[in-house]
Amino acid sequence: MKDIFDAEKRYENTLLEAKNFLNKKLKKPNGSSLNKERIDYLLSKNAECPICGIELEGANHNTEHIVPLTIGGKNILENKIQMCVICNYSRNQVMQALFPRPPLHKYYPEKWIDMKQFILWCELSIDEKELAADLIPSIHAKFMGYRTGGAEFPIQAKNSFGRESTWKVGDEPNYSFNQLLNNKKPISTSTNSKTSRSLALRFFDKIFGYEPNKENIPTQRTSIDDVKPMASTGMKRTTSIKQAINYPLKKLPDGVNKEAFIHAITELISYDEVSSNIIGNRIRKMQEDTGCDEVGTRPFLQNYGFSKSFGLVNAIKSCFGDQILIEGDGSCQRIRIIFPIVSGLNTKGKGLALPKDPEDFAKVLSQYCINQNKFELYSDVHDFFSEMMSKRKTNSTMTKLCLLLLPGNIEGPWREIDWKTAIKIEKASDLAMMIWEQSLERETDEEGNNINFLNKYFEQVIKHLNEEE
Ligand SMILES: [Zn+2]
Repeated sequence: MKDIFDAEKRYENTLLEAKNFLNKKLKKPNGSSLNKERIDYLLSKNAECPICGIELEGANHNTEHIVPLTIGGKNILENKIQMCVICNYSRNQVMQALFPRPPLHKYYPEKWIDMKQFILWCELSIDEKELAADLIPSIHAKFMGYRTGGAEFPIQAKNSFGRESTWKVGDEPNYSFNQLLNNKKPISTSTNSKTSRSLALRFFDKIFGYEPNKENIPTQRTSIDDVKPMASTGMKRTTSIKQAINYPLKKLPDGVNKEAFIHAITELISYDEVSSNIIGNRIRKMQEDTGCDEVGTRPFLQNYGFSKSFGLVNAIKSCFGDQILIEGDGSCQRIRIIFPIVSGLNTKGKGLALPKDPEDFAKVLSQYCINQNKFELYSDVHDFFSEMMSKRKTNSTMTKLCLLLLPGNIEGPWREIDWKTAIKIEKASDLAMMIWEQSLERETDEEGNNINFLNKYFEQVIKHLNEEE
């Protein structure tokens, strides 16, 4: 398959079904997950998310409808795949960003071109990830923006299962990565892909049967396939990172891929407090797992553009700046990522001051859910939060909570609101998802780092909440 026309041919049936669904204004069918036997089997095989490669465990995974049901996808085995909740969530975000609220038939056929591109991306991103990036770069960049802040995934799935229809209990992991393994091009470089030609050029190639030499592909891009990286969308930067510099800052050497390095280290450290030795061990393990020729911290650093002798801790200091805490040295060294206080849930307000530790926030949210029926007045909720959070955090969190749970009342003075009318939340993790979603909608950052942190923060909040349930 070479171009978008081939993709349209390949997924002709899905497109026809979507058109039919929209044209006839059909109702979205009910969706269902993979059955328990299959899910248990996935877990017993230590299956990984086919998109990002993290291991599926506990409740960190969901069944995704590859083509969403609201745009004509079917609730059938061919259209289901199990993936991690964050990838699943980021895919949903792409759809929410592209289209107004469902039902989508209201925007058909006006928005059909966009819908078609989206459906093709949905399918290709499962079947041939690299092609999804090359053929539909703007949508793919959006997904990677939501998912990682635009950075490439540090690991690639090797032990995953594809569409539900392609395997049954007893089968080995079957997800094919031929594209990625044959050509180790990272997914996110698609945003700069030089081989992405304009749709118009491909169209004429098609008509005249001209098959250009790959080397001579024009590099200019035009028309609807023009790539719009997240950084240039002009969205406001609203996130602030708490200042906590506790060591001399290292100058970042020229030529270092800071964004990719931060992403890799963030994945390696996660929420632990670790020494540099432990990070070194994790680097080696990752290299072995991904079949790197050279193993060790030095090739790892060189890979991101550092000189051989720069040193891991120095590299971390130079890239993370005040986002990392490094205390002690030698065997007592403690390195920990500082999670940001995320602002900007409401662009008019001063922002949502999230507690620094995700676990604290998880506790507050679950306590809120347990007690929500007791709240009658604004002051009840305020008192409740102020017991657990600082005054400044309480005030800003309350403001945002009103916006989320009392959508009809945001004009009036909040203090007079009857809190009994607030939306009832069944699970604390739902409340966390709402806040996360609202935050992501408004958060962006030139380097994409803050989205990455925000994602990490909420991944951890939801992990704590799931552990509690
Ligand atoms: Zn994933």
